Amino acid sequence: MGDLLNNFLSNYVERLIYWAAGHSNILPITSQCNVRCVFCSNMQNPPGVEAFNLKPLKTEQLSDIVTLLDPQKPVIIGESVTRINEGEPFTHPKIKEVLSIIRKALPHNTIQITTNGSLLDAEQLAFLQSIAPVTIYLSLNSVNLRHQLMGDARSEKAVAAAALLGKYGLTWHGSVVAMPHLTGWADFKETITYLDNCGAQTIRIFIPGYTRLVQGNLCYRENMPQQLRQTVSELAQQVRTPLTVEPPLLTNLQPEVAGVILNSPAYMAGIKRGHIIQTVNGKEAFSRAHAFYMVKKAANPILLIQNTTKASKVVINKAAGESSGLVMEYDIDLSLIEDIVQIASRRSAKNTVLLASEMAANVLTMALNKYDIDHSLTVIPVPNLFFGGSIKTAGLLVLRDIINAIRNYLDQHPCPDLVILPQIAFDPNGRDLLGSHWSEVESIFSIPVEVL
Ligand code: SF4
Repeated sequence: MGDLLNNFLSNYVERLIYWAAGHSNILPITSQCNVRCVFCSNMQNPPGVEAFNLKPLKTEQLSDIVTLLDPQKPVIIGESVTRINEGEPFTHPKIKEVLSIIRKALPHNTIQITTNGSLLDAEQLAFLQSIAPVTIYLSLNSVNLRHQLMGDARSEKAVAAAALLGKYGLTWHGSVVAMPHLTGWADFKETITYLDNCGAQTIRIFIPGYTRLVQGNLCYRENMPQQLRQTVSELAQQVRTPLTVEPPLLTNLQPEVAGVILNSPAYMAGIKRGHIIQTVNGKEAFSRAHAFYMVKKAANPILLIQNTTKASKVVINKAAGESSGLVMEYDIDLSLIEDIVQIASRRSAKNTVLLASEMAANVLTMALNKYDIDHSLTVIPVPNLFFGGSIKTAGLLVLRDIINAIRNYLDQHPCPDLVILPQIAFDPNGRDLLGSHWSEVESIFSIPVEVL
């Protein structure tokens, strides 16, 4: 029985790896890590959650998996995939062989690696340079207190790596999980300034999430995110690198530019932080994400830009598909709204409810209000009761949270004729993080369900 279960699990994890490669161009290569961050989500899961630690992927398996990767998109390494815990890619004992196999199969793809940086020495960087194009996402987190924050005995290596990346001609971005209640605001500001001075293209600042099982001193005061946004907005006036805070606090869908990468096509065109993109090649921009993708897709797009005083036309000289250098906070892609409307119309639904995370519900409601819809479509925010803590994301919703939210809704509203659930809460087989299938919603409430 034990062997049968082990076989089932290893086949399941294998299927998840193939699915991640084919679906998102993400290649999970290991869950092992050389540090122990106080904010690491891998250690906070409530009991019962299906989360798997992946041993270093065998290079023999890779040649099969790489055939599923999209040659038009970056290959992503070091990011978590649904229920496979992320790890530090450079702990893989055959990392050079892994990267060489990818490069041989996909000679032109950018290989995008997220790393904590403490294993990035000169030899590793020279190797990465030899298999360009490679983009590094360096999770530095703190320039002075990395050891306390991440348990990293090689902190100085990661700090030094930030200064070396540019010297090896590598494109790179910095990231900081903001823990000012542990590191102090001075260290936070110093870390951002250091990444800026070292030449990061962008700096992403994350507000850490914690579950109801959080231990130690991860919890922060309620007003920390607000204070953080204020501090980042002041810092953005002082540094050249575009800064973004995730999750963003969005009160509208106005396509406002959050920043522009130095010397990028958008920078050369004179676009600046705070400018609003009204149209791209004459087409109205529905949201930030819509504007961003229209610009990315087009060759030499013409933008109608609104600054504080006037609107003017600007051409961004770039190839189709090339990055423009615009940095915009993610709100919502127009195609998602179009898909929702199409599903409701295919099902002839007159009264649809859409279940969304607490984080996404507001943006989704704004987008549906902006779009011209001729029937009732209601967004229900679903609290992450199972994970609890500060979690407000759809990827960590479980079916019991969703069922609970529908029950509460039905207590006060008529029964809808269609329910749409967020796909990100389910694996490729339709199961949530506790193994329950979304079809239970149909059985319990006798309402047709779609997953999008
Ligand atoms: S580097 Fe990433 S995987 Fe490793 S402990 Fe930190 S958060 Fe977790």
